[in-house]
Amino acid sequence: MSDNGMVQCRVCKMWWDYITHTHLKQHGMTCADYQEEYPEAPMQGSNFVDFRVSPLRDRVQSEETIDRRMEGLRQWWDSTEGLAQRKDMSDHPLRSRR
Ligand SMILES: [Zn+2]
Repeated sequence: MSDNGMVQCRVCKMWWDYITHTHLKQHGMTCADYQEEYPEAPMQGSNFVDFRVSPLRDRVQSEETIDRRMEGLRQWWDSTEGLAQRKDMSDHPLRSRR
């Protein structure tokens, strides 16, 4: 059913990494319609499920890590603690004299 890690659309018999809402729309169906019509048909191939162990994994993970760090920095920046630390830095005599 899903050898090669892909999933077959039961309507058009095409193979996909996963079956999208947009694709089903071409058949005049919603995801719910499709699952009702083919209850045992998977919506995602194992390619999709295993995406995080694919060669893209490292890149994706590092992007996620950067995003998380940036988010943390942004939260710190907006927090009162961050504000106080920034104030300390700008009020520091050595710094302000440079
Ligand atoms: Zn199809």
